[in-house]
Amino acid sequence: MGELGSSIQFLSGVGPKRAELLKKELGLETLEDLIHFYPFRYIDRSSIQKIADIHSDLASVQILAKVVSIKEVPRQRLNVTVEDGTGRMEMVFFKGIKWNRERLVPGSTFIFFGKPQEFNGRYSIVHPEVDVPREDSMTQGVLTGVYPSTDRLKTGGVTGKVMCKMVSSALNLCLPEIRETLPDYILRDMGLCPLPYALKNIHFPSDSYALEKASIRLKFEELLFLQLSLLKQKYKRSRNEHGIAMPHVGKDFHDCFNALPYPLTGAQQRVIKEIRSDMTSGHQMNRLLQGDVGSGKTMVAVLSSLIAVGNGYQACIMAPTEVLARQHFNNIQKYLAPTSVHCALLTGSTGAKERREIHSGLEDGSIGLIVGTHALLEDNVRFKSLGFAVIDEQHRFGVDQRAKLWSKGPILPDGNQAAPHVLVMTATPIPRTLAMTLYGDLDVSVIDEMPPGRKPVRTICITPSKRAAMYKFMRDEIARGRQVFVVYPMIYVNDKIDISNVEQGYEDIVEAFPLDKGYKVAIVHGQQTAEVRDFNMSAFAAGRAHILVATTVIEVGVDIPNASVMVIQSAERFGLSQLHQLRGRVGRGADSAYCILVRDFKTGKDALQRLELMCSTENGFDIAEEDMKMRGPGDLEGTQQSGLPINLNIASLARDGLLLTEARAYADRILDRDPQLQSPDNALLAKELRKGKYNIKDYSKIS
Ligand code: ADP
Ligand code: MG
Repeated sequence: MGELGSSIQFLSGVGPKRAELLKKELGLETLEDLIHFYPFRYIDRSSIQKIADIHSDLASVQILAKVVSIKEVPRQRLNVTVEDGTGRMEMVFFKGIKWNRERLVPGSTFIFFGKPQEFNGRYSIVHPEVDVPREDSMTQGVLTGVYPSTDRLKTGGVTGKVMCKMVSSALNLCLPEIRETLPDYILRDMGLCPLPYALKNIHFPSDSYALEKASIRLKFEELLFLQLSLLKQKYKRSRNEHGIAMPHVGKDFHDCFNALPYPLTGAQQRVIKEIRSDMTSGHQMNRLLQGDVGSGKTMVAVLSSLIAVGNGYQACIMAPTEVLARQHFNNIQKYLAPTSVHCALLTGSTGAKERREIHSGLEDGSIGLIVGTHALLEDNVRFKSLGFAVIDEQHRFGVDQRAKLWSKGPILPDGNQAAPHVLVMTATPIPRTLAMTLYGDLDVSVIDEMPPGRKPVRTICITPSKRAAMYKFMRDEIARGRQVFVVYPMIYVNDKIDISNVEQGYEDIVEAFPLDKGYKVAIVHGQQTAEVRDFNMSAFAAGRAHILVATTVIEVGVDIPNASVMVIQSAERFGLSQLHQLRGRVGRGADSAYCILVRDFKTGKDALQRLELMCSTENGFDIAEEDMKMRGPGDLEGTQQSGLPINLNIASLARDGLLLTEARAYADRILDRDPQLQSPDNALLAKELRKGKYNIKDYSKIS
């Protein structure tokens, strides 16, 4: 065995204890792991700023400063005053108090890095990164890598300096063993540097130019393999999967279409064409339909379902909650009135007798279109010939659940089981680069046009000092027959959902809008049982309650055209996409709609920026792009199903969009010429892919 596979513990200065710590904290076991563990930023002596030059517009600063004094507010925070000869500032820690108190000894000098904030004319950094200045590299003006770390590692003695030493020995031992992972022709085509050069310079750059070359090479490689593995699946599936060819459109489609109360928007027409072309192709469709809230996805789902029915198949539309399923069902029935299609609703609360009837209707094919919740996935729900499945608001559905749907497809005349065509609909505007990765093997359709007549939602941001005025405004709207949402953020205390803020909010609202004055207030939150939640939701949906106090459980899809005001409390705690989703709940009726963002007096600069953006645009894609830039894609993924695949080592979806686009186009070209990667030219690629490192958990596929 070569050096690459040997354990970190045999490096000088490491030993079993630190090795264990490195494994536990960072997942690093072998020298190879270590070599592929890259710095996340670099210290450059020339970029150190003076405290006197700081202003709060800077995204980040790096200060070389001496600790003057430390003040601890027990169990709360640690205030560390530092100076650099040009001025003083504060470093603030809410976490790791003990460890920081011990190491930040007055008189000693450190490098502090972070975002400066101004308060009362003084600057501070909350939770700065702290490094010990290293004479060797710092004085030569060389770039020094800073590695991701944890408090445990630092207290365990694995400091930045130790990390650098370890990586350096690992590189020395392993460099001769490192083999190129990209074929020559790609290196030449793209002008990429060789792997050993890249690895050496990503850890110990000889200058900023070498660092740039190294980082581009490693990022491109990562993105290329990611796209290759995704696209290979897509190629494979389009060859192997037994799709159902649906050549006809059918009478029901035309009957529905001709009776529509309004013409389809251009975007709706285009998307239906895209779907239809998939359905006729004979391959199984796996398509993501993205469209902002209110863009008219339901119509597209219904018309596409009718194409399936027109070809003798059944269709189903699944929603994540009972309320949504019922809402769909009611709307869809109106659309279906001019057709001969029999439609049914199946949810958890469907009674036993009705359930039996529905089961047999699905089995004998008399039900053409079924709308429902997870109840549709139960084993005893069998279809005569399910040819088309729509999944609404996909992020509430797990991969396993979709696998179940997949298995309900019909048996084709040749004896093979076919997977139904699948349309996944989402209102989460996913930035292009992220969609390309998350859904690398999915086709994506976008409805980028709103139906005419949708009212803009006037958005303002206020502090609680305006509460009285806000209540008055709410009363006026209610007096005009309108309804109001009041949303509170989901708060976690020790990983548990804490609902005290919603409950307190509910009490405040009930006090201001008392029952004896005729006001009715409903409340929904995640701690309620599904029944209680549904009951409250339905009361609001049916207009029996004037105000709905809620956590973000109402984020998804609920359509209550009569609601005209969305109040979002502690708005600074929400992400942009979430705010946008929430705002989309109003503005669906004929009247003007309003969104009131209530922010804390002490709102940080980033949050203020988000709130300002909300007040200035309603375009979901603009908001999503900004969101990803501000927060990195991690949080966006968080709103998707958990256990998401992306685990990029060096590339960033938010920042490396251009490289990703290039990598994808390149991967497409490679597979187009050599779908199995069998040519000798591509042997290296095939080998790398076989290692399974890039096998991202397939999020979109349903089997
Ligand atoms: P979403 O994409 O959020 O699911 P819906 O399908 O619920 O949006 O549609 C939102 C509203 O817009 C519905 O009231 C629907 O009747 C209406 N709508 C859909 N398509 C059109 C259209 N082409 N012209 C006018 N109104 C439309
Ligand atoms: Mg919808």
